[in-house]
Amino acid sequence: MTKTRVLVLNSGSSSVKYQLLDMRDSSRLAVGLVERIGEHTSRLSHTAFTARQTREQTGPIADHEAALKAVAEELARDGLGLDSPELAAIGHRVVHGGRTFTEPTVIDDAVLDEIERLIPVAPLHNPANLTGIRTAMALRPDLPQVAVFDTAFHTTMPESAARYAIDVRTADRHRIRRYGFHGTSHAYVSRATAKLLGKAPEDVNVIVLHLGNGASASAVRKGRCVETSMGLTPLEGLVMGTRSGDLDPAVIFHLARVGGMSVDETDTLLNKESGLVGLCGDNDMREIRRRVDEGDEEARLAFDIYVHRLKKYIGAYNAVLGRVDAIAFTAGVGENSAPVREAAVAGLEELGLAVDGDLNAVRSGEPRLISPPGTRVAVAVVPTDEELEIATQTYALVAGTG
Ligand code: AMP
Repeated sequence: MTKTRVLVLNSGSSSVKYQLLDMRDSSRLAVGLVERIGEHTSRLSHTAFTARQTREQTGPIADHEAALKAVAEELARDGLGLDSPELAAIGHRVVHGGRTFTEPTVIDDAVLDEIERLIPVAPLHNPANLTGIRTAMALRPDLPQVAVFDTAFHTTMPESAARYAIDVRTADRHRIRRYGFHGTSHAYVSRATAKLLGKAPEDVNVIVLHLGNGASASAVRKGRCVETSMGLTPLEGLVMGTRSGDLDPAVIFHLARVGGMSVDETDTLLNKESGLVGLCGDNDMREIRRRVDEGDEEARLAFDIYVHRLKKYIGAYNAVLGRVDAIAFTAGVGENSAPVREAAVAGLEELGLAVDGDLNAVRSGEPRLISPPGTRVAVAVVPTDEELEIATQTYALVAGTG
């Protein structure tokens, strides 16, 4: 039997998301999520498209091992079990691959050690990713398991973009540099944008705006990332749902000296209590727009700050790329918020950018152009699909066509 299925696992600290795909046509056979692992109120929701079944269970799931076993049982109930001879590989999302991992990589002991060595630069994510991998390897030791790194797409950034202007020795000793994140999405969306234009990725320069609860921009020249807005951690760059994005680092000294705040308190402030939620109390763009429409000044200012930052990056990446063929909006806000897209591009006609009101208002899950026909730079909405990208990269590697 041909092995054409790939299971994609995204293991967070208290959750596991999964998708089983058939790579013959990239179709989804099953999707699901285990939440609140380690609590009494853990929840598993599972949908098998093959069996047209959705099931939910609540109750304690103690750890990742128990979570993955529960997932394996759910898949088996629909005839899609981990022991299926059609399963070609498991693809794991791994947040931080440092400078080591520039490509998807088949996992062995050396790879596990290196992901572990990177924990100091990704203390929140890599440990959970590792737990997921180890558990999956214990369940199916004979099956190829592939790590797909969020940072990999950005490893092509030139040193001039990847380095901070701080003492080189200190930076190197602590591996401080700009790594960038959301790379799987930026890779997928930049290629899908080229396809939408009817061109090869090598023939276009694209600015990708991944605007979800986390948000990042990237400048992609001929298929290779040359600049991105997130840095050592996902805190740098755009205004996000709960993260501040760019900030004078002296704000942190000021908070310590004048506000008496500890490192952990400041970390929480900047990562969890800032961005849109810090500015107006809401991080959901739908709610913010509703408030703006009702005349709420706080929400209006939050929206304006969000869009102002976005514009600065569009301008900067125009300068970095020199020539831009397309700007692509993606992720929750980018795919759904017509007002954000309109405001981000407003007034940038001199850069060849414009949005057509009617096209921008269309709601669709398909990649589409929203710029008026004939404008120099295409403005596009391109839904991201990180799971499909992880599955595609995983399958290409194990099928020997990568
Ligand atoms: P993501 O992280 O890509 O799942 O994006 C989540 C965010 O997308 C939410 O916090 C909302 O701000 C935003 N979002 C989702 N749906 C919509 C919508 N219909 N209109 C505006 N924003 C939306």
